[in-house]
Amino acid sequence: PTHLNANLRKQFPGMWNLDGSPWRYLDTAATAQKPQAVIDATVRAMGVNYATVHRGVYARSAEMTLGFEAARRRVATFIGGREDEVVFTRGATEAINLVAQTWGVENLKAGDRILLSTLEHHSNIVPWQLLRERTGVAIDVCPLTADGCVDLEAAEAMLTPAHKLVALAHVSNVLGSVLDVKQAAELAHAVGAKLLVDGCQAAPRIKLDMAKLGCDFYVFSSHKLYGPTGIGALWARAEILDAMPPWHGGGAMIDKVTFERTTFASAPQRFEAGTPMIVEAIGLAAAVEWLEAIGLDVAHEHERGLAAKLREALGQRNDVTLFGPADSLGITSFALEGVHPHDLGTILDEEGVAIRAGHHCAQPLMEHLGVPATARASFGLYNDETDIEALLKGIERTRRIFAP
Ligand code: PMP
Repeated sequence: PTHLNANLRKQFPGMWNLDGSPWRYLDTAATAQKPQAVIDATVRAMGVNYATVHRGVYARSAEMTLGFEAARRRVATFIGGREDEVVFTRGATEAINLVAQTWGVENLKAGDRILLSTLEHHSNIVPWQLLRERTGVAIDVCPLTADGCVDLEAAEAMLTPAHKLVALAHVSNVLGSVLDVKQAAELAHAVGAKLLVDGCQAAPRIKLDMAKLGCDFYVFSSHKLYGPTGIGALWARAEILDAMPPWHGGGAMIDKVTFERTTFASAPQRFEAGTPMIVEAIGLAAAVEWLEAIGLDVAHEHERGLAAKLREALGQRNDVTLFGPADSLGITSFALEGVHPHDLGTILDEEGVAIRAGHHCAQPLMEHLGVPATARASFGLYNDETDIEALLKGIERTRRIFAP
């Protein structure tokens, strides 16, 4: 609905050019712009409220500690999980590495197998390859359906009791295709494997409920969720998290330290060595509050709607190839015949339209699609149909420049 966004865009300083005209920002899948409420919360946390957490005996620190732990509670509620199941990490990438280097090293050995899919982001591929080097586990790759969804029928056929982990994206950052997490969890659990879900692109667009989804690990980044960079979260089922050995050592993750022997704090503190991302956590909580006030159902419909409109318009051109399913969620990848995506992106930038051109940290998917790169337009709550019109106008101008 346009009325939603006419007001919403005003809340985002980053969505405007210096001359006061709207910036056609269509790269939210890379990172989302921040609403003023998040910026203000961050400024307060870094200014008048700033102090460390968990240590100070003075009132400001005690208040900051309450704010920091309230942020964890807010994130837990946001995803339908328990507070002691949420570990703050630097982002989704660090969260996946944490699982690989703790749970993975502790539980996986040569002969075990991990199932990934063709569409995974490098951050859900490379950590498992590093684990493979350490432990000798094998990695299998689940193919995609013709329209670019993880082929769960193929996954079912591939899974064996040797599989200890299935790790899949909830929403593809390139194709916008959505995974049926519940079904993936059932398939994984049927062979005794755990399911890790990369929720980077889902958390801003799908109402999450860890109790219902059935996965064992879920990761996401704050900066794609209208919050600050530098923080994200790992959710893991309490009994799994409790049994995971520590990763980074240092302050705040210990119970008692002597030179002979150190004992560790319980989860989630065990995985949060050092002074935490205090300001970022407060900012993330503000982002969650802001997003919940709008409603994830509204966000979902809005982003599906804009992606559908763009697909429909691009589908009418005979010089555009569309990738991904018809019902992609907020993310549209495409190719303009005879024009490299980088050239398209550069000309669009001259028109004040920002899209992404490249491999989107998904090189195996590019190889599967048979292209070196794609052009990608992705939407946030601040976008509306005028952004699509500007993009289409820019594509038309590019066509004239690169006339066949
Ligand atoms: N997975 C997906 C699907 C993503 O889109 C991204 C960010 N592009 C990541 C993982 C990595 O997130 P971050 O860089 O915030 O750690």
